[in-house]
Amino acid sequence: MPACHKCRGMVSKVYDCDHTGYQGYCRECYEDLHYDLTEA
Ligand SMILES: [Zn+2]
Ligand SMILES: [Zn+2]
Repeated sequence: MPACHKCRGMVSKVYDCDHTGYQGYCRECYEDLHYDLTEA
């Protein structure tokens, strides 16, 4: 099972993109990151 690069939580699926530096993030961290980006 992969671990989130940010919160280190074990999750069934991780998400990555250029914003995460192509590190796997859990859905919550991934959405939080993009929420911050769109708010900025
Ligand atoms: Zn996370
Ligand atoms: Zn992104």
